[in-house]
Amino acid sequence: MYDFIVIGAGISGASFAYKASKYAKTLLVEAQDYDREIPVRTNIFAEHNKPFVDDLFWNDDSIFPRPFVQLNYKSEKHDGLLHSKEFGAPLGKISHTEILIKKLIDKFRDQGGTTQFSESIAKIERHSDHIEVINNKGESFSTKLLVLATGSRGFPLQKSLGFEIPDSSMGIYTNIYADESLLEENFNFQYMFHLNPKISQNGPFFFNVGKGRIATGYLGNKENPAELKSKLIRILKNYQKIQPFMKGIKWDESIPFVSGGISKHPISSFSKDRVIVLGEAAGLVTAFFYEGILCGLASADIAATLLKTLLADNSNFSRAELKKYDDEVARVLFTYFRNGNACEYLFYNESSSTKTLWNSYSNLLNTNKTVRKYVYEAHINQDLSKHNTDNDRFVGEKLFATIPVLSKMTLWPKFLKAMSF
Ligand SMILES: Cc1cc2nc3c(=O)[nH]c(=O)nc-3n(C[C@H](O)[C@H](O)[C@H](O)COP(=O)(O)OP(=O)(O)OC[C@H]3O[C@@H](n4cnc5c(N)ncnc54)[C@H](O)[C@@H]3O)c2cc1C
Repeated sequence: MYDFIVIGAGISGASFAYKASKYAKTLLVEAQDYDREIPVRTNIFAEHNKPFVDDLFWNDDSIFPRPFVQLNYKSEKHDGLLHSKEFGAPLGKISHTEILIKKLIDKFRDQGGTTQFSESIAKIERHSDHIEVINNKGESFSTKLLVLATGSRGFPLQKSLGFEIPDSSMGIYTNIYADESLLEENFNFQYMFHLNPKISQNGPFFFNVGKGRIATGYLGNKENPAELKSKLIRILKNYQKIQPFMKGIKWDESIPFVSGGISKHPISSFSKDRVIVLGEAAGLVTAFFYEGILCGLASADIAATLLKTLLADNSNFSRAELKKYDDEVARVLFTYFRNGNACEYLFYNESSSTKTLWNSYSNLLNTNKTVRKYVYEAHINQDLSKHNTDNDRFVGEKLFATIPVLSKMTLWPKFLKAMSF
C-alpha cells in the first residue's frame, strides 16, 4: 500500500512527488514514455514562482539557462517593453522545463519514490479505507490518498471521481533551435505576448526565448490540431509583425508541432475523500496570461505541506480535512487571479475592442513608469496572497484615460465591471 499515488508527471505531479517522497511512500505514474524523452518545453518562470521551488533547482543554470530581463507585450502598433534593469533584479528566469521535471523525478527516486512511465491509469475504485488505481494493463495499486495531476488530458478520469472539469481550449507550439548569437540579434526580450483576434480571440501568440531555442505558438482557440498547425505555419511564414524576429532562423514544416488542451477557471472543489487535484486539472491557470507553472508549483507545495501533517496523524484523509488544501490554494492564489480575470474580461471579447485596448495598453506600458513598476512588482512578488489589486485598478484607470474617445463611450461599462473583479 502506498501513502500517495500521483497520476501525471508534469510540473504539478513531479514537484509534488519530489516534496512528498521526503516523508511518504509515493508512486508516480505517467502515461508518456519519459524514459525515452520528456517533451521539450521552454517556459517563462516569473520570480514569483521562487517560493515554491527548492534552491537546489532554482540555482541550477542547466534548468534556468538565462534570466528573464525584458518582456514585450506587443500590439499591432507598439512593442510594449518592460526592462527589469529599470527597477532592479530580473523579472524571473527562462526555464528549460523538461530538465526541471527530469531533475525533480531523479531526486524523487533518490528519496525512495517509485516511477511508472508509459503507463496510463484507466480506472479508479474507491474503498472505504483506501483507493485502488488500475492501469491499462489491468495491474492494480492501492493508496491511502490519490493525487490527480493529469493536466487537461485526464478529464474522463477526473469526471469518474465526481470532480468538475475546468474550461478548456486548444493551444499549439513548436520548438525552434537557433544559434545563441542569432537569437541575441533578433530578440531583445525573452517573452513576447501578442494579442491579435485573427490568431486567437481567447489567448496570445507568444515567443518564449530560451538558450539556443525558442518556443512559439498560440493559445486559446477552438480549432482542431491540423488547423492549428497550418495556421501556425502560415503565421511563422507570412505574418509581417513577427518576421523581424524570424529573420535568418531556419525551420521547416517537418519539426514537431505540439497541440493540446489548455485549461483555466478553477473548478469549485479540489478535494474529495482520499483524493486531491493539482494544477491545470483543477483549472489552476491564471486567466488571460495562462500561467500554469506558478499554479502547478504552488498547489503541489501547499498539498505536500498539509499532507505531511495529516499522514503523521494517521489521518483518513476525509474531505473535511482535505478542505484545508482548497482553502490554502484559494488564499495563496486567488487575489492574484483577480488581475487575470479582469484582463480576460476586458481583452478577450469582440475583436474590434481587443485591438483598440491592446494597442493602448502596450503604449501605456511604454509611456507610464508607474504602470511598468506595477507590472514589474507583480512579477517579482514573493507573496501573491498580498498582490495589490489597487495597482491593477490604477492601471485600468490609466488605460481607460488613454483609449480613443469613441471607444470610451462604448467601453465604459466594461471597464466599470472589470474594476470590480
Ligand atoms: C504552449 C503552452 C505554453 C505555456 N507556457 C507557459 C509559461 O511560459 N509559463 C507558465 O507558467 N505556464 C505556461 N503554460 C501553462 C503550463 O505549461 C501548464 O498549465 C502546466 O505545465 C500544467 O502542468 P500540470 O502538471 O498541471 O499538467 P501537465 O503538464 O499537462 O501534466 C499532466 C500529465 O499527466 C499525464 N496524464 C494524464 N492522464 C493520465 C493518466 N490517465 N495516466 C497517466 N498519466 C496521465 C499526462 O501525460 C501529462 O504528462 C503554457 C501552456 C501551453 C500549452
